[in-house]
Order: sequence, then structure tokens, then C-alpha cells
Amino acid sequence: MRIKRNPTREVRIGSVTIGAGHPIVVQSMCATKTTNVEATVEQIDRLAAAGAGVVRLAVDNQAELRALVEIRRRTTANLSVDLQENYRLAVDVAPWVDKIRYNPGHLGHSEPERSWQDKVRTIVDAAAAGDCALRIGVNCGSIDPAKTTDRAADDQIGPMLESVSEHCELLDSLGFRRYCVSLKDSNPARVVALNRRFAAERPDVPIHLGVTEAGMPPEGILKTRRALEPLLAEGIGDTLRVSLTVPNDRKQEEIEAGRQILARVAAGEGLADDAPPADEATGLNIISCPSCSRVENERFVELAGQIREMTRYAAPWPITIAVMGCRVNGPGETDHADLGVWCGPQHVRLKRGTEPIGSFGYDEILARLKIELDRLIEART
Ligand code: SF4
Repeated sequence: MRIKRNPTREVRIGSVTIGAGHPIVVQSMCATKTTNVEATVEQIDRLAAAGAGVVRLAVDNQAELRALVEIRRRTTANLSVDLQENYRLAVDVAPWVDKIRYNPGHLGHSEPERSWQDKVRTIVDAAAAGDCALRIGVNCGSIDPAKTTDRAADDQIGPMLESVSEHCELLDSLGFRRYCVSLKDSNPARVVALNRRFAAERPDVPIHLGVTEAGMPPEGILKTRRALEPLLAEGIGDTLRVSLTVPNDRKQEEIEAGRQILARVAAGEGLADDAPPADEATGLNIISCPSCSRVENERFVELAGQIREMTRYAAPWPITIAVMGCRVNGPGETDHADLGVWCGPQHVRLKRGTEPIGSFGYDEILARLKIELDRLIEART
């Protein structure tokens, strides 16, 4: 059985094309340091061998840009770059990659005096000159602040959809059609709602599906299945990523999990929309980032695993703990969790909701987190 597909338009990304009924492309992102060219090329090749149609890299500065040029020389894989705060890097990276992802929520971080529309024009011009596709990548942890000011605090879907829609309109008005969008959240039900609504509003735009910070397998795979399988069965989705917190030598598991999702949906065996909720809806929910070049201490993945083990006793409690690998996204993406930790080079920051608790050594954080978790359980008993 073939997967039913929405009639989105065609978008070429190097040697693959998404949309318009083309096969759904599974992709991933390198978690090696981009400046470590050897390790990054090895990871790209391993991901490509596992079936990745596109591999994303983080490039945040000139040293990573120089590494990217060398990486490009050493691999034929289709490469995408993830832009963060510095939108101007689009001009430098575009000649070396096949796709650029930008996040509307990060455009205000540099040159606040310049309008977001001008910044997007810079990115679009760079993509057009460099023969690149674009992804407008909206993420629950970094929503454009201009979209959230007049909204109820619990309305996450409205601001994300508004943000992506205005960027689509701008790209359309600039005559740039080679783009796709992603609307990622760590909550599978919200991923379903977001993408259904966007697909209904813009049936022409190809969609990159994913659950952000899905966490460690097997829970991270189950969360992703609960969002992606119902969407794919409805014809929504042209490319996908399964974001898993795994060590570098297991990163290809993201591709394997993505391919299994596609095989299940093609066989009519995907999870339905009303599948019984996973733990994140009923008990302790650990969300953790998949790590990337920006991770600030290599102990991050190990720490995420230790937190999962240490917190098993709290399984029945509906408490969310977010574990993030860096200061770029860590502070924002832990705001919605009951407890959050994000990793710095020497210390781990601990938060209760949006309130910072302190900074602790890698050997101290587990005990301190347990104290906070016990307090939370006691308050809810
Ligand atoms: S939180 Fe930081 S380390 Fe983790 S995936 Fe996001 S940017 Fe990378």
C-alpha cells in the first residue's frame, strides 16, 4: 500500500526532491562538533548510508563555516544548515549547502533595528543565489515574541501558526517558492493539531514533520510515532526527522526509526489519532534535545540517561522535566517544563518553570534535581 500524499508543490534539495508526491525523505542532524571535520563527515556518511536524504549541520561562526567548506568537499550527501541567531551567515553558507533552515523566533536576536522582513530578504537572496531550498522552522521553545504578546499564555498553537503563515506570505511575495515549513512541539498532540491546521490553510506548501526534543528511545520514538503516523496516514508530511537523544555512534537510529514509521504507515499499521496516550500525558515526562554541534559538554547524553534512571520512582506523577544540551536553546526550551536543566561547559543550570534555581557541577546535579522533584511531588500530594 502506498502512503496517501497531499498535493504539495515540488521543492528540490540537492539531489532529492520533496513534495508533489515524491517519496518522503527521512533526515537527521549531526551532533558532532562541526569544526571536527573528520567526525562530522563520518557521521554524515553513516546517516546517509542508513538512508538519510538530507543531513543538517549547525554553523554559527567563521570557524564552523571554514569547516563546512571542507565537509562539503568531502561528502556528496545533501547538506542543510541550521541558522540560529546570526541570519547573515546565510550569505556565507548558501554556496556550500542544499538547504538552509531559519527560525522566525530567532530573527530578532541580532540587529534589532532591522525589520524581520529585511532579514528574510537577505536569507532569500542568499538561497536564490546559492541554489538552495529554505525551511521556515518554527519551534515551540522559541516562538517569535511578537506573536505571543497579546495571546493567552496557554495558546501555543495560534502564535506558531501565525508566525509561519506570515513568513510563507513574505516568501511568496518575494517570488521564492522553493521552501518547506516545520511546526515542531515536544507534545505529540500539539504537533498533530499544528500540522493539520497548517496543511488545511496551505495545502501547497511541503511540510517537514517532527516532534522536537522527543527524548531517548524507546519513549522518544513512541512520542514521534504518535504525532507522525496519524499525520502521514492523512497525507500530511513530505520529509521527517525523528529527534532522539542518543550518543553519536547511535545517531543513525533516527533514520532507522523514521524509515520504520514510513513502513508502518505504508502497511496501514500506523498509530491512530486516538492511540492510548504515552507517559507524557499521564505521568512523568522527560523531554530532552537530540544534541547537536552546540552541545556544551559531551556528558549531556549520559546525563539525560542518568536523569531518566534517577527519576523512575516518580513515574506516576504528571511532571515534565526538560533536559537541554546548550545555552542557545536551553533557557527558552525549558520554560514550559516543571523542572528544567540545561548544560554549560562546566555547570548545569537548574530551573523550576521559568525561575532559575542555580548552577551545579555535573557530579552534583542529580542530587539537586532529586530534591526539587521530591518537593514538587510533596506539593502535589
Ligand atoms: S538544545 Fe542546544 S545542543 Fe540541544 S539540539 Fe538544541 S541547539 Fe543543539
